[in-house]
Amino acid sequence: MKRAIFPGSFDPLTKGHLDIIQRSVPLFDEMIVAVNTDTGDCRMAVESFQGLLVDYAKQREAAAIVRGIRAVSDYDYEVRMALMNRRLEPEIETVFLMAAEEYSYVSSRLLKQVFRLGGRVDGLVPALVEKRMREKLNK
Ligand code: ADP
Repeated sequence: MKRAIFPGSFDPLTKGHLDIIQRSVPLFDEMIVAVNTDTGDCRMAVESFQGLLVDYAKQREAAAIVRGIRAVSDYDYEVRMALMNRRLEPEIETVFLMAAEEYSYVSSRLLKQVFRLGGRVDGLVPALVEKRMREKLNK
């Protein structure tokens, strides 16, 4: 049984994240979307974790960590992270996937900035996420 973990803050969850999740589900027997609480289909589960990602991945007996790559700017950070994680836990591989081009500029931080200043983010986040963002903004 090959289990994989897709970690992130998902604050908020974007269509770029969903695209990576949809692409990784057919590659593994089980996919866990793991929300890092430090910062803030039935083959997929959502869990939260604290502390080192590799400790959590080992505890859940995951074979792989899935990460999304957008532009070259992601590459530098992601490679350093993957090599450090490999040093800490050589048995767990990091797998990089690319989302569709139309989401290549989408990041949670940019979306939050635009939304806070009154810009439109429809089509870039699921409708339910946009609704929650609006509720949070109007609080
Ligand atoms: P982080 O806290 O590391 O920034 P995020 O919650 O923003 O994590 O994202 C989790 C994962 O999703 C990361 O691997 C990130 O590269 C990937 N990701 C986020 N947005 C996109 C996108 N638009 N296209 C591809 N990958 C993405």
